Order: sequence, then structure tokens, then C-alpha cells
Amino acid sequence: MPTETFEFQVEARQLLQLMIHSVYSNKDVFLRELVSNASDALDKLRLEKLWDDSLDADVSDLHIEIDIDKDARTLTVRDNGIGMSYDEVGQLIGTIANSGTAKFLQELREAKDKAGEDGLIGQFGVGFYSGFMVADEVTLLTRRAGESQGTRWSSRGEGTYTLEKVDDAPQGTSVTLHLKPADPENQLHDYTSPWKIREIIKRYSDFITWPIRMVPEKSGDDAETPEPETLNSMKALWARPRDEVSDDEYHELYKHIGHDWRDPLETIRLQAEGTFEYQALLFLPAHAPHDLFTRDFKRGVQLYVKRVFIMDDCEALLPPYLRFVKGVVDAADLSLNVSREILQQDRHIEMMRRRLTKKVLSTVKEMMTKDQERYGTFWREFGTVLKEGLITDAENRDAILAVASFASTHHDTEPTTLKQYVERMKDGQEDIYYLTGESRQSIENSPHMEAFRERGIEVLLLTDPVDEVWADAVGEYEGKKLRSVAKGQIDLDAKDEDGADDDREKQTEEYAGLLGWMKERLDEDIKDVRLSSRLTVSPACVVSDAHDLTPALENMYRAMGQ
Ligand code: ADP
Ligand code: MG
Repeated sequence: MPTETFEFQVEARQLLQLMIHSVYSNKDVFLRELVSNASDALDKLRLEKLWDDSLDADVSDLHIEIDIDKDARTLTVRDNGIGMSYDEVGQLIGTIANSGTAKFLQELREAKDKAGEDGLIGQFGVGFYSGFMVADEVTLLTRRAGESQGTRWSSRGEGTYTLEKVDDAPQGTSVTLHLKPADPENQLHDYTSPWKIREIIKRYSDFITWPIRMVPEKSGDDAETPEPETLNSMKALWARPRDEVSDDEYHELYKHIGHDWRDPLETIRLQAEGTFEYQALLFLPAHAPHDLFTRDFKRGVQLYVKRVFIMDDCEALLPPYLRFVKGVVDAADLSLNVSREILQQDRHIEMMRRRLTKKVLSTVKEMMTKDQERYGTFWREFGTVLKEGLITDAENRDAILAVASFASTHHDTEPTTLKQYVERMKDGQEDIYYLTGESRQSIENSPHMEAFRERGIEVLLLTDPVDEVWADAVGEYEGKKLRSVAKGQIDLDAKDEDGADDDREKQTEEYAGLLGWMKERLDEDIKDVRLSSRLTVSPACVVSDAHDLTPALENMYRAMGQ
């Protein structure tokens, strides 16, 4: 079988260039990325074998192995996991399937002059390609479990890679880095030093549940080959007492399961004892993923049963509006063969979901009282998603409203909570006013706002599409009605002075002719013409009936086929 040469996809090429010329100081993380991939591959094989016993694969000693060759200056990370087929190698390694990376590149271009490339690389996951930070050539040999033929992939990172079919590849994948020449000035970056490898694994990959072994070099030519040493403790972080685990260790676990390079915003631990025992370790990320609102966003946390990995993206454990939460749930009393369908109907899982949901919401509440800035970041990134819960989760509606905040006419940039809004309400004001629209500016320019501005009445400025839906569905907060200033009759003067009602009646009589004429002319398009106290500058505005759908909602329901 001939060796074929392929070109990297444009984005992949850009990313590789970045890696090759990277001056990113923390190059050690390349090893974390390779180990993380190897660990995923072992998880996948174990599961596949569990479902299909006839799969021709050996699962008796699943592990990761690190080999150093000082003379050849190579470092190899090997696993006997699921492996990749010829086509998969081309797809997974030759292109950037992960569209988050495309976004990374775009942000990089935009921010190049400001933060510089260096800081940014540290913020994004670049997985497999990070090997090119330390190597000038990378080869990968792999065989998909169940297949007889293997594949060799090789690249110097400069525009092309080669693929070749091989007959005698062992099960799994091995990635060999041909390390860049040693830097005599900087011994710290000597990746052929066992000491260095030990240190990196301990720091970044200690919790990996598969053994990571290293065979130390022979001391002399005829010395015996030493026994491999296991570098990681394999201890599940969620099962260890809190005071034994450092924040850094938690963060490394998050990066592994969240495929994120950045620290999480918040770590949440929960231990449930009793009839249905489980441990949960959840993370709130610091940044919303770019595909959070797409249909195929993978939601859910990892499910383990007694330390054994069962599935990724277990959506039964959290409601859809918490789909950004990452983490691990380890349940003691589930079958290892449990399926997604069974989980959806299981009573214990249902209880677990309710408990985890409340725990996440109470954590956000705590953040709000203890650390405004962190809460601010959280709400900016995930507020839009959380508001979906106001519509779908009646049980936790109040808890979500309590942590929600909104732009308002009270302040140009600082959002307000409903509680703060109510505290500022004017004497005699009974309702909470809001207006929805596409942007803060378009809302503020709306004629509906005139009377409110004139009278100094605060209005919430809601710009997410979901806002109309929840505001309608929720209806009130602490006994105060939520009212759109664009709907129905809002008589702001009624309570100002006693004579206002009489005045209005008099004026309506006075203008009866004009109103009647307008109504007749516009009969096809409108229901009624009224005098209004809500305008100060504009002569007229169109108002929906209190129970009518707004145009945006009409569109949404139509799109949903209702
Ligand atoms: P990510 O791990 O975030 O998906 P990577 O760049 O690290 O991104 O890896 C890309 C893909 O290549 C992985 O999703 C996986 O499908 C495949 N892959 C990488 N390393 C291995 C491996 N050791 N065994 C099997 N598949 C692998
Ligand atoms: Mg990876």
C-alpha cells in the first residue's frame, strides 16, 4: 500500500503554524492532551466491548504507556484503546472537526494585537496538535479495535501529512513526538527526562482512571529491563475528602472532561448518602461554548458507577437549561449496563436530577451574594440559557428568578435583579414594567418608553428572544405583575391626581370625531384607537392587546409549528 500525501485543511494549517511557532510558555500541557485522548480511547473500548462481547479486542490490561528514548529524542504515548480506522484518522486528525477551534482562530486574529497569541493559546483547547509545540515531527500509529489493518499518520506540521496502511499495528494508538532540539539554556523543558514526565503526569493527569506507566531507561547495556512504574494514583477526585484535594487538581479534572483549557468558574461537590448513594463533582465553566444553542450540542455530565466510567453526556442527570454544566456523577447502585432509555425513567435518577438542579441553583445564589464579579461573569455567559428554565421548570422558577438579572433603565451598564427593582418602585407603582426588543438601543428609542422616561419609572430592557416567553409564562414576581409596556392599556396618570379620569373622559369626547375617523380608515389593521397618556413626543404608537402575541412570539410559535 503506497503512502499517500494529503493537505491539511486551511484552519488546521493555521493552527499548526501557531503551535510550531508558539512561544507559549507552558508547553508541558501537550502531554496532558495526549494522555487525555488516550484515556478517552480506553473508556471507549471498554464500553464498546461491554456492549458487544464479540468485538475482537483485548481488554484485559487497558493502560497508557509513556516511552522515552533519550538518544533518538523521541517521546511516545501509547494506549491499547479503541484506535482509529484509516478514514477516521483522516477525519479526526487531518481536519478541525471541533468548530470551537475555528472560533478560537477567529478570536486569535481579532485579538492578536491586544493580548498577543501567547495568552490566547493558553485559553483554548487544541488537543492533539499541541504536540507540535515541542516536536518537529509527529507520527501516529493506530489500529481500530476489531479491524486487522492499521494506519500510520505522519506530519512535520507544515501543510501536509501522510497516511499509510500497515499490516502489523498493535491494538490502540501510539503517538510519537520527535522532539525539537534540546535547549541547553532551559533544562526545565527536557521531555526526555523521566523526572520531568513524572512531574507533569502527577500535576495534570493524576486522576486519570487508567494506569499511566513509564519504563525507565536501562542503566547499562546488559542490565535487566526495569519494571514499569505507574505514575498516577488513579484516585477518583470525587471520592476523596475535600480537604485532601487542591483546587488545581479539581481544575485539571475539569479540563479533561470539559475539553477546555481554562479553569472553571466554580466547582460544586455533592455527596448523597442513604438508600441511593452517589457523589457528584460539577463544574460551571467560565465561558459559554460557541454551540450552546445548536441542536446537536452535547449536554450532560459523565456517569460513573462505582468509579467505572459508564457514559459521556448523560442528559438524564440535569435539565436542558443546565446543559452547560460539566462534571461527574458516580452512583453506587446502578447496573453497569444501564442504558440512556432506562435512565430517563428511573425514579432514583429523577430524584438525583432534582437534587443536582437545586444544588447548582443554590451555588449560583451563593456566588451572587459572595462574589458579584464572578456571578456577573456567570450570568453574562449563561443567563440566556438559564432563563429557559423559567418556562420549563415550574418547581425551580423562584430559585431561577432569584438569581436572574436584567438590563434596566435604572443604569446604563449594571443589570438589576427583580428584588432590587421592586425596592426602587415608586409609591403607587404596582407592576414591574418591561419592554422586549432586539437591542437596548432599539428599546430605548421606542415610543412606548416616552411616558415612562418622563415619569422616571424604571423599565426592564429585555433583549433575548426567550424573554418574551418567560415573562409571559411567569406573569408575576412576589405578587407584582410583570407587564410589557407595549401591551394593553397602561394608565400611568390614573393615580397621580383625582381629576385625571374625568380629564380623560372629557378629552375622549372632544376627540371622538377624530378617533372614529381613524378607526374607520384603519379598520382592517387595528382593533381600536385610544387616547393615550404614554406618549410625550411621538404623536401615536401601535399597541398590542394585553393578551395578544407580540410579533416576535407569533414568529416563534409559527416556527414551532403551533
Ligand atoms: P478532542 O480530544 O477535544 O476531541 P483532540 O484534538 O485531542 O480533540 O483529538 C481529536 C480526535 O482524535 C479525538 O476526538 C479522537 O476521536 C481522536 N483521537 C485522538 N487521539 C486518540 C487516541 N489516542 N485514540 C483514539 N482516538 C484518538
Ligand atoms: Mg483531546
